[in-house]
Amino acid sequence: MIPTWLSGPGRALTRFGETPAFTEGLYRIAPDTYAWMVPNGSWGETNIGLIDCGGASVLIDTCWDLRYTREMLAGVADITGHSPIEAVINTHADGDHCWGNQLFQDRPIYATQACIHQMHHMHPRSLSALKHGGTLMRYLPLAGLHQFGHYMHEMFKPYDFGGITITDPNQGFSRHKTLTIRSVDIVITEVGPGHTDGDAIVHVPSRRVAYAGDILFVGVTPVMWSGPIEPLVAGLSLLQSLDVDVIVPGHGPLATAPDVQTVIDYWHFVHEALHRRCQQGMPPAQATREVICSADFARHPWAHWDSPERLLTSAYTLYRHWGARLHSLPGKLGVMNLMRQQAMLAFSLPQASPRVMRHMR
Ligand SMILES: [Zn+2]
Repeated sequence: MIPTWLSGPGRALTRFGETPAFTEGLYRIAPDTYAWMVPNGSWGETNIGLIDCGGASVLIDTCWDLRYTREMLAGVADITGHSPIEAVINTHADGDHCWGNQLFQDRPIYATQACIHQMHHMHPRSLSALKHGGTLMRYLPLAGLHQFGHYMHEMFKPYDFGGITITDPNQGFSRHKTLTIRSVDIVITEVGPGHTDGDAIVHVPSRRVAYAGDILFVGVTPVMWSGPIEPLVAGLSLLQSLDVDVIVPGHGPLATAPDVQTVIDYWHFVHEALHRRCQQGMPPAQATREVICSADFARHPWAHWDSPERLLTSAYTLYRHWGARLHSLPGKLGVMNLMRQQAMLAFSLPQASPRVMRHMR
């Protein structure tokens, strides 16, 4: 069955002002099986899954804020009218996949224990502060601070973090969990740590569909917050081995096995290129810049992916797992410092998209 677009909000531009690479909204990807797709898969442009089990349905992930979660729910109302959402699955703990959970707090919400453990690693109030603080920081011409302010402000501008209460999944599991809803088997497999500590993928064998969460980005540079790289690549290989016709990535257009292979190739490429530079004693920020600006990088499909600067975060993760001594700040401060460096790198890559992230107006 060829995936079919059914309906959507019909916006002419993406949340970051880009021309959409695919149409936003609800797609039927297999009989009674759906995805809510958001172009172009940049910050918070998260894809959602919906499986209609005949009288009850299962939602895979929620959006970054309540407004977009409600918009998505209105967009799938024709299905949930006859098959109400009976359970939710969170693929991982990043806010853009679970900060709409509070709208489902009376229902079972499934996630790995490691995901639940990481649910509070960021707080909506901190992001709101950064969004508004960013407006002020833009005018401070201190080492990268104005770029950082602009970058964060643009990243958060489409979203409203007010009124969000982080709602933990109430059905934790480890390794494997099979939900059987009205005789439809939904197989959840823990593949983390990698992108985050508690990544999971969702497979519906009878529908020949898989939902990858954020171990798979398509046309968008993936990021490894947690690592190590081995389980992340093993998770991608598992995804690729599933007998499915369609894979819904966490971000970007609908995918098939060859798209997964390209992401595996990206990880092998950056792993090798960064490891060589790490062994030469090169700091991760410099190594990242060299790799992105190399002729070899330019020859590969990932040279055209959104947000190439995210490699900086993955480089820090790789260096940490290689045991390199890094002068990084702890916890949330460390994340902010990574974002500051990513912003500086982004501004030095003027051709990269989304353009709004790196262009002062
Ligand atoms: Zn995401």
